[in-house]
Amino acid sequence: MDLKSKLRHVMDFPKEGIDFIDITTVLQDPEAFQCCMDSFKELADQIGDFDMIVGSESRGFIFGAPLAYKMGKGFVPVRKKGKLPYKTISAEYDLEYGTDILEIHADAIKPGQNVLIVDDLLATGGTSQANIRLIEQLGGKVVGLIYFIELKMLNGREKLNGYKVSSIVEF
Ligand code: IMP
Repeated sequence: MDLKSKLRHVMDFPKEGIDFIDITTVLQDPEAFQCCMDSFKELADQIGDFDMIVGSESRGFIFGAPLAYKMGKGFVPVRKKGKLPYKTISAEYDLEYGTDILEIHADAIKPGQNVLIVDDLLATGGTSQANIRLIEQLGGKVVGLIYFIELKMLNGREKLNGYKVSSIVEF
């Protein structure tokens, strides 16, 4: 299936000049969603063995949790500051204007565990870098990062040098 053609482009969202890629058109199409999840599994299989999947708020949850279920792995949510109830560690990362903070439960990853990061889209790589810092601070090893969509022009891969990066579709 041509998953690219199932994605919707919304011009000028969230602000003028942005071509926002909307994944909801894939989610609401049962065959496309299944094809997308099967493709995620193929990429995860190529990465090799891992213990946990980390997905960050909020679209990382949509793909990360079902993939973890499908592969019999644990799922760890990374959330925006102040949302997780237990003890957390945090990482600051750059947005286009300003910064934001992501958090993970301090006991979510055990030292030595192999972790796969799953997200909907790789743009500049800033979000993924923050996820890596959180996982490595807890002693986890990031074995790879997989995405539904990669925006090649933004060179996110450069920030993730040294890590295995793969995506289902590219723009
Ligand atoms: P990065 O940190 O610059 O790599 O941005 C990646 C994050 O921004 C992902 O978690 C996406 O959810 C979000 N994002 C950026 N652009 C888009 C888009 O066009 N469609 C959907 N999500 C986007």
